[in-house]
Order: sequence, then C-alpha cells, then structure tokens
Amino acid sequence: MEKLPDPTMTTNYQKKILRDRFLQQRQALPVKLWRSQSQRICHHLANSPQFMAARTILAYQNCHQEPNLDELFTDRTKQWGLPRCVGKELLWHDWQPSEPLVIGRYGILEPHSKSPLMMPNQIDSILVPAVAIDRRGYRLGYGGGYYDRLFADPLWRKIPTIGIVFDFAYINLDWSIEPWDIPLDAVCTESGLASFGC
Ligand code: ADP
Ligand code: MG
Repeated sequence: MEKLPDPTMTTNYQKKILRDRFLQQRQALPVKLWRSQSQRICHHLANSPQFMAARTILAYQNCHQEPNLDELFTDRTKQWGLPRCVGKELLWHDWQPSEPLVIGRYGILEPHSKSPLMMPNQIDSILVPAVAIDRRGYRLGYGGGYYDRLFADPLWRKIPTIGIVFDFAYINLDWSIEPWDIPLDAVCTESGLASFGC
C-alpha cells in the first residue's frame, strides 16, 4: 500500500485501483469487528468538542460496511440531515431518526423527497463517508464526484467537515489530486479524531 502500482497510470486508473482495494478490504471486515469499530468512531465523535458544539449535523446512512453512525443518531439534542442523490447532485433533507427512509439510487437509504430541505447556512458540521482518506485530508470517494461537486460551492465548502473511515483506510499515501479536490478538515477513525492543517 506504500506505493502506487505504476506512476505512469492516469489518475483515474490509480484511483480505481485504490478504490477496489479499499472497498474489498472493508467488505472483508468481520461483522463483529465492523460493529465494534463503528461504535468506537461514534464514541470519539460524540466526545469531541466539534461534535458537542454542533447543533445541526449532516451525516450518511452506511452502505457496504461503511462505519455505522446509528449510535450517534440516538442523540436527540442534534438536528440531523441526510443526503438524497438527485441527478448529479446531493440534496440535503432534515431527518428525525424515528422517520422512515426509502431506498434511493445506489441502494442507499434516503430521506423522503418531501421532507424539508436544508440550506448550508443552517449546518454546523458534515460527516463525510469515504473509501479512503490520505494524511493531507484528501478524500477518495466512490467515483461519482458528488461530494466534490457539493464542496465546489463556497457556501458548502466553508462548513467544517469530518471524514469517517476505519484506520486501514486512513493511509500514508498521497495519490495525485485533481483540480476539484478539496481536503477535509478532520478525520475520525476508531483510533480517534484528528484535524488537518493545524
Ligand atoms: P470521487 O470523489 O467520488 O472519488 P472523483 O474525484 O474521481 O470521484 O470525481 C469523479 C468525477 O466527478 C470526476 O471525473 C469529475 O468529472 C466530476 N467532478 C468532480 N468534481 C467536480 C466539480 N467540482 N464540478 C464538476 N464535475 C466534477
Ligand atoms: Mg473526488
């Protein structure tokens, strides 16, 4: 994992190889370990000053053994928001953890399209799912560019972000970044929460 397989590969191809590798590794996690590591991530988040100070938090519903954030959703003092994939965009809706979700594009659970939309000026923090995150805070996503397009808008970009991955996917390898890549502000793994750039 220390080196990319071939430096002459295009960035897209490098990213594809890394994506496949990390997704496979995550899918291979035994469920018990996936659950306990997810709980540790929730514990670190819940006890962080960033999280405690935030009132309105955008999160995600886990898919393909992404860290499971369900334990956080029991905190009813927060206003939660979840994304809905619409065309090439993510739309954010407010969500009470007791409200039912519907299966959306990519098989991910999404809020109902009629639930209220959230605007960037209402939001204190975004928990960002990722396939991997490098030591500079750059995110490897699933290849759809959804979060990149979201953060291309300065109103969304200024909201503090925390990338969520297991330790094995917080890696000591800097892949080639592209003009649209914007680093995350922090990362949380089962080992703890770390901020970038300070
Ligand atoms: P991911 O972040 O999901 O891993 P990439 O960073 O490879 O995926 O981006 C996927 C595609 O999304 C890119 O090839 C690019 O065409 C598109 N994309 C990313 N950011 C933007 C943007 N700010 N505006 C328009 N298209 C974008
Ligand atoms: Mg990207």
